[in-house]
Amino acid sequence: MPSLLQSQLSDLLASGFGAVDLLDTLLQSQPSLVSVVDEQGQVLLFSPNHRMLSGVSEEPEPIQHIDALFPPFIRQRFSAPLHELVLQEDLTRWEMSVQHRDGQVHLYDVQHWVFEGEGQRWVLTAASDVSGQRRAQNETQLEQKSQLNYLSFHDPLTGLANRSLFYDRAHKSLSRSKRHQSSIALLLIDLDRFKNINDSLGHDAGDYFLKQIAQRLGDALRDTDTVARLGGDEFVVILENIAQAEDIVSITEKLLSNLSKPIDVSGHEVACTASIGVALYPKDGDSIDQLLKHADLAMYKAKAQGKNRTQFYVQAMTDTAVNYLLLENDLRKAIDNGDLCLHFQPQVDLQSRLIAGVEALVRWEHPERGMISPGEFIPLAEETGLIEPLGDWVLLEACQRFQAWMSQGIHLGKVAVNLSSRQFRQEHFEQTIVKTLLQSRLSPEYLELELTESTAMENAAETIELLNAFANMGVSLAIDDFGTGYSSLAYLKRFPINKLKIDRSFIHDIDTNEADAAIAKSIIDLAHNMTLQVIAEGVERMNQAQWLMDHHCDQVQGFYYSRPLTEAALLELVRNPQRMVVSSSGVRLLV
Ligand code: C2E
Ligand code: MG
Ligand code: MG
Repeated sequence: MPSLLQSQLSDLLASGFGAVDLLDTLLQSQPSLVSVVDEQGQVLLFSPNHRMLSGVSEEPEPIQHIDALFPPFIRQRFSAPLHELVLQEDLTRWEMSVQHRDGQVHLYDVQHWVFEGEGQRWVLTAASDVSGQRRAQNETQLEQKSQLNYLSFHDPLTGLANRSLFYDRAHKSLSRSKRHQSSIALLLIDLDRFKNINDSLGHDAGDYFLKQIAQRLGDALRDTDTVARLGGDEFVVILENIAQAEDIVSITEKLLSNLSKPIDVSGHEVACTASIGVALYPKDGDSIDQLLKHADLAMYKAKAQGKNRTQFYVQAMTDTAVNYLLLENDLRKAIDNGDLCLHFQPQVDLQSRLIAGVEALVRWEHPERGMISPGEFIPLAEETGLIEPLGDWVLLEACQRFQAWMSQGIHLGKVAVNLSSRQFRQEHFEQTIVKTLLQSRLSPEYLELELTESTAMENAAETIELLNAFANMGVSLAIDDFGTGYSSLAYLKRFPINKLKIDRSFIHDIDTNEADAAIAKSIIDLAHNMTLQVIAEGVERMNQAQWLMDHHCDQVQGFYYSRPLTEAALLELVRNPQRMVVSSSGVRLLV
């Protein structure tokens, strides 16, 4: 069946349209080189453009043989005459580069078609100049290659140098400084609580925030300084030619203040501070890895000291870090070997004098170092994740002890257990509580969970959900160290809590310091207005106890009443008729 074009052509020719004129015009207007040869290689037709290739003169003169259409170096490429190869169908398409008479080299895409008719065969050849097209392709490839190259050295999100480029530049800086005997400073910058932004506003918002931060970093530094993103919310800066440490202080102060300004993230004003660790060459190390390691330790110290600050590296940090590592190992073993124990500190109701509860406080008797305070190993356990097995153990042990005392007829109100932030937010923590209660057979109303104010407010919306789950089980909740963190009263109101524990720092001088007294008084009023109970911790003297009594504090806890005690000591105290009155309503402490 003829194609549409064929039937159009037949119609056109039948209407008397000049076929010769038509072909002539078509060939003249063709940018491609077109030729037709017969089986013997005789050229029957060629388009005028062929002259550029063949080198034949401008003057039209017939070209006799196909060989004459192609320059000699092209002909030499083929084992047989071109038309023969084409007719044997070995060759239908190929490329050739040809130098034009103007000296430029062009690339041609050559195609052959074989036509048959009346015992004869012809080869139609069309060659088109694809130089421009190929150049464009090459350029795109080059562009892609340079893009790839760019990506392998830059952070795709912020456009800052990535780790590889950072190392490259850092090594160069270091060599320069070694040659010129100058100093460099390596700054490790980590955003404080960036995770909150990601968690509360989503990853897109987090990404946008990081981009803005990267821009601010760049703006605050000289073009010659290297800024790189090492990953997540961690950035590194290299400052060369540092004359004196004060110069670094003014730079880091500028950085801290620039970084902490709020950023508008889809209509929310979001601010995030940063912690900076600084290590100096040559003082703190003579390799990039060592400087990085030391800046990292300093940065951690900056975080531990309250964040939003700069910390310079000092040798003692390495010593502490090594200690920390040893301690971590030991703690792991202590948990496995059961070398931890619990002490219990009574909480006393000020009106009835009854023991209203005991707080379980974990202790670690280290074989060489002696007693290590929880203040030292709880943060370590938090950081390393050991808090999960440790916390689970404390919880179960506390519930089991308390249940055992009850079965001996000793009623000490409730057992309070401290929760650390990571423990509280671990997955399935709710199930852990249920499992612990079942395993210890302790009824939920005897368990009180203590959460510090900062833990509770860390992700307040999530806290409400978790606390509701505990409250629904019938477990009591207390906010520990109240007054030391930042409480949102809006959230506090929504937490299903039972008790506020006034931090012992306010109790210490409560009878002499007006400000402390005013704070304690306000906390007592706040608790009562919210129908919460209030307990004062760290009561060491009679005057403090008297003040608290006068100001209607509900409960007290502290050395004045009793130190934290081993189980044996607690039971001895309870059974000591000089100190205790055990009645059907509970255990009354005599002070
Ligand atoms: P906390 O929960 O505020 O516990 C009260 C701390 O105050 C205890 O220190 C206790 O010994 C101490 N203390 C009690 N009365 C007085 C007093 O009259 N004067 C003074 N100066 N101190 C008093 P401890 O046992 O060293 O515990 C320190 C912190 O470690 C606790 O503070 C708590 O946050 C944490 N902690 C203790 N045990 C655990 C635990 O099992 N799990 C978790 N996550 N944290 C725990
Ligand atoms: Mg506590
Ligand atoms: Mg406390």
